[in-house]
Amino acid sequence: MDDAALNDIYMSIGNTFELENMLDECMPIILKYFKLTSFSLYKTNNMHELKLIYSTECMEMDKENFEAMIKRLEHQYNKDVSSLIVEKVKDTYYYLFILKGFEYLLLWKHPNSLDNEAIALLKNISIKLQHAIYGCKIHDTLHEVQNNLEDNTILLNTIIDTVPLSIFWKDVTSTYLGGNKLFLKDAQCKNIDHLRGKNDYQLPWSSKDAQYYRAQHKKVLGTGVAILDYEEPYVDENGMERWASTSLVPLKNTDGKVFGLLGTYYDITLKKESEYKLKVHRDALAYQATHDSLTGLPSRSLFMDRLKHAIYFAKRNESKVAVLFIDIDKFKNINDSYGHPFGDLAIKKVAKRIRNNIRTIDTVARFGGDEFIVLLDNIVEPSVITTILSRIVKSLETSIVIHHASVHISLSIGITLYPDDAKTSDELLINSDMAMYEAKKMGRNNYQYYTTEMMQRYEVRRELELKLHNAIENKEFTLFYQPKFKLGALEDTFIGMEALIRWKDMDKNIYVPPTTFIPIAEETGIIIPLGEWIMEEGMSQIVSWYKQGFEPGTLALNFSMMQLQENDFLQYFQNILKTTGCKPEWIEIEITESQIMKSPETTIKILNSLHEIGIKIAMDDFGTGYSSLSYLKRLPLDILKIDKSFIDNIIEDKKEMDIVQGILALAKNLKLTVIAEGVEKVEQRDILFKNGCQYIQGYYYTEPLSAEDVEKYL
Ligand code: C2E
Ligand code: CA
Ligand code: CA
Repeated sequence: MDDAALNDIYMSIGNTFELENMLDECMPIILKYFKLTSFSLYKTNNMHELKLIYSTECMEMDKENFEAMIKRLEHQYNKDVSSLIVEKVKDTYYYLFILKGFEYLLLWKHPNSLDNEAIALLKNISIKLQHAIYGCKIHDTLHEVQNNLEDNTILLNTIIDTVPLSIFWKDVTSTYLGGNKLFLKDAQCKNIDHLRGKNDYQLPWSSKDAQYYRAQHKKVLGTGVAILDYEEPYVDENGMERWASTSLVPLKNTDGKVFGLLGTYYDITLKKESEYKLKVHRDALAYQATHDSLTGLPSRSLFMDRLKHAIYFAKRNESKVAVLFIDIDKFKNINDSYGHPFGDLAIKKVAKRIRNNIRTIDTVARFGGDEFIVLLDNIVEPSVITTILSRIVKSLETSIVIHHASVHISLSIGITLYPDDAKTSDELLINSDMAMYEAKKMGRNNYQYYTTEMMQRYEVRRELELKLHNAIENKEFTLFYQPKFKLGALEDTFIGMEALIRWKDMDKNIYVPPTTFIPIAEETGIIIPLGEWIMEEGMSQIVSWYKQGFEPGTLALNFSMMQLQENDFLQYFQNILKTTGCKPEWIEIEITESQIMKSPETTIKILNSLHEIGIKIAMDDFGTGYSSLSYLKRLPLDILKIDKSFIDNIIEDKKEMDIVQGILALAKNLKLTVIAEGVEKVEQRDILFKNGCQYIQGYYYTEPLSAEDVEKYL
């Protein structure tokens, strides 16, 4: 073997750092030089599974033999590092070298063996190979590491430039070292080199902002403590005020020494703006919730809050609190006559007058509609209440003028006191409302202090009210009928009857008098469905009697103003006439004088249209109310019903008889039929007959009867 050949081999072994190239280059020389047949490089892992890494030709040695060979080689290797196994299978000689780690080099020669010198040389070459393979491996690893490193830097840069954050870093002297794309844009720098080395005063921030940034950065650089997620305002390049959320983190080396600062921030202007809008919106809502839009006065909820506070302090100071419930009298009339916009202005003016006459520590709130509530706080001397009350009342003595129209407004006021009447705000509210209600009943334009009797009455009433709500559905109502008679010299004749409602309270199994529940039904509006039921029931009944061949005459139905004023009353009424098959001449309508006087003009209209379709109209309880002759003339009346109170003492009291005579004369003049109500005794009947009264109704004949019982009279 000459040195030049060996040198060739060595050169090619050391030529490249890629294993495959290196083997490709050196193997043909080795094979040729040693006249070897083939060459293979194997690898085992620690499980001793063999893997062919490289071979000059596809040559597989018998697997079992090869493995046995390797075992032997390893055994030998433990004693002698540079060992080699030579085996002869048939006429092929196999040379197996162990390289470092898990690599093996297998060479074989056919048909002769290698001489010792060649084997020694091959051993030498295999050691060289071994080094070269090792070198290749290190090179590959290094290469991989470097590739990874490059990848990581690219990745990092991509992240830094992709996140929607502006990022910058500074050294310990607060000089910029770098920043991402977003930051460079803000700093108006083309690239990092443009930024590097600059301080805040050299960047396009306003000097105020620059000063502020430096101060913040110095703080972090000085203390080594991060400041995270704080909101800061700044002015952008267009001079617009904007907001950023900023975090500043100190950069520390392994000893914990601060060598710089990393800052990030992002724009939160939109978020701030929507937060601001939301706040404005919320504040507006809160104001709306706590204030009345018409008068600007506190609302119910705000009032209740203040009342609770006032109670709390009164308790501590042993003082008193007064609650005034104020309702404008007959406000509905103002709305009806002048319209709602006028009504609204009137409410505003009343609100102003009340407010001007309470103390600054007091509160007046609007409770909706025409209701106000006043809190008189911290009352040490109760006479203050009366003073304020009379001031409020007096303030309304002067009419309110709106658009040249002057209206007189009066108030009904209920007063209650803490701690005298109640301990809680809710109770005080109920008390004052109740007292106000009492003031209304006392004829309006006055004030009433709460009393415990009011509460008792209220509770009874409330209970009835609740029951009344379900009474129609529960079929608790029935109609009774009280016959009416025409007086005659020989005998009195049946002419018809009045339908009177009866309510049986099923829980208590008692009849509740209509004088008790009708007013409640009117106030709660239950009178509307109830009235409809009465019309249907009464008309069906009289139709049924006529159909059965009876002669029931006319049926009088009682109505209250509220029912007549329902929008579609006339249509509804006619509808029931039609569906039940009732003739108009069978029906009379009774309405009391006081009901008519609630709203005379409207009543005249409605009664006229009823009269036109053939319904007779009776004025009920005549003589008890405020009768105006002019209205009597204008109303389409057919009948006057003299109230029972005039009949009661008609025998004993001459004056009563005079009144009745007067009514009879008036009726004759107006061509009205007169019927006397509540006739109980024969003497009463006789004197009425003698004086020209033609019709009577009363216990003298009978009490109101059930439909079944009334049939005896038909
Ligand atoms: P009203 O319309 O004046 O009815 C007459 C009332 O006097 C009835 O009382 C009747 O039972 C009673 N009465 C009749 N004759 C005598 C008598 O000789 N002596 C005595 N002491 N009383 C007599 P009732 O049924 O208790 O009704 C009371 C009031 O309730 C009625 O007075 C009427 O205003 C109202 N009312 C009754 N039914 C209805 C109804 O269906 N609708 C409406 N809106 N009100 C009704
Ligand atoms: Ca009646
Ligand atoms: Ca009556």
